[in-house]
Amino acid sequence: MKFYSSSGKTGSVGLHQAVFDGLAPDGGLFMPEPLRRLPSAFFQNIGEMSLPEIGFVVLNALFGDEIPSQKIKEIVTEALNFDIPLIGVENNIYALELYHGPTYAFKDVGARIMARVLSHLNRNANETINVLVATSGDSGGAVANGFYKVPGVEVFVLYPKDKISEEQRAQFASLGENIHAVEVNGTFDDCQGIVRQAFGDKELRQRIKITSANSFNPVRLLPQMIYYFYGYSRVLQMPGVKPDEIVFSVPSGNLGNLCSGLFAKRMGLPVKRFVAANNANNVFDEFLRSGQYSPRKSVLTCASAMDVGRPSNFDRICSLYEGSHERISGEIEGYSFSDEEIMAGIKLLSEHEGYIADPHGMTAYLALTQSLREGETGVFLETAHPAKFRKTVEKALEREIIAPLGLETKSPKTSKAAKPSTISIAPTYSAFKNQVPGIKR
Ligand SMILES: *Cc1c(COP(=O)(O)O)cnc(C)c1O
Repeated sequence: MKFYSSSGKTGSVGLHQAVFDGLAPDGGLFMPEPLRRLPSAFFQNIGEMSLPEIGFVVLNALFGDEIPSQKIKEIVTEALNFDIPLIGVENNIYALELYHGPTYAFKDVGARIMARVLSHLNRNANETINVLVATSGDSGGAVANGFYKVPGVEVFVLYPKDKISEEQRAQFASLGENIHAVEVNGTFDDCQGIVRQAFGDKELRQRIKITSANSFNPVRLLPQMIYYFYGYSRVLQMPGVKPDEIVFSVPSGNLGNLCSGLFAKRMGLPVKRFVAANNANNVFDEFLRSGQYSPRKSVLTCASAMDVGRPSNFDRICSLYEGSHERISGEIEGYSFSDEEIMAGIKLLSEHEGYIADPHGMTAYLALTQSLREGETGVFLETAHPAKFRKTVEKALEREIIAPLGLETKSPKTSKAAKPSTISIAPTYSAFKNQVPGIKR
């Protein structure tokens, strides 16, 4: 597998370089090539395969020329050691629950595989790697969890002040050790902008070794393809489901999740259509409907992990379809929902079907209710445990919900004790570079 820039088919590099360069020399994002179709025997047997088995086939096709098969097997077995259940929610709608990993959000899938691939690629170097990650809430915890106390790795989590839930913040800000929380007085887009600028900073890159754990790093993005194959294999076994009538609905922010689904389709997954669900930050929905792309400042919503005004993977999606709006909107349908619609949806679905969705998964569920046609089956990605957004979900339901053990113990109280390890900065690259210990000279 080679990687070339999304902004021109230049600069084809191997996996190792793509991971440690972060961005292509022209500032574009790395695109994998070629994305070959997986063999038809794979699709015939997929129903009998386990999650790690499917993971192995997919990862081996992607990284097999740079990582030995045995190692890939080990990586998927260790990383994917949790369930991804497919739950029937109503008639022709299923939830693919991606949140049963250690930090209760789908980011665990990419982050856990990425942590292991990175350790493997860096195995002979004795220089510390500094992992930079901008988080809209969930990446921070997942990446911190993947690298916590890993020797030779320092993690910097940049998060937007007051725009993530307490449960999310506690997952990385309470750890200490090699995990450094950086509070940015701005939005997720500001955080992501700072990380992107770091890759263009020659002085910094000569002084320290950096990599990014955001979805612009292909090693975090590409493993997310696995659960599309897995979800497909499981929904096929449900009564009355037609293999060519399956629609995936994706709660979308930075568009990494959706992008990995589109890659899976290129590798032969017979998805009939993708549905992209936005909250009030609807730049992508707007683009799908009008062809106009107008990135802008994000607004705060109750599905805050999707509060992105300038989704970085938009460039990848354009590159994948050679910039053709017609082709993109032929494969992806867009919807967006207000906070009121999301809150009402959580309550209604719980009352009618007894299913509690988190605010992000809810957008994808609502989109399916509008998009599905006769004979189709919809799978929406449930990207976070509802208790990770406890305040919002309890407000919607007008009652308390039970949080699983890990979320219960890491209450805001524990995070307060660890607060001194958090540094707070203005939303600029110079603040990041001049003030953050471990980054500054
Ligand atoms: C990150 C996140 C999203 C958005 O995923 P993208 O890949 O950024 O589009 C949706 N839901 C939850 C819970 C998330 O953490």
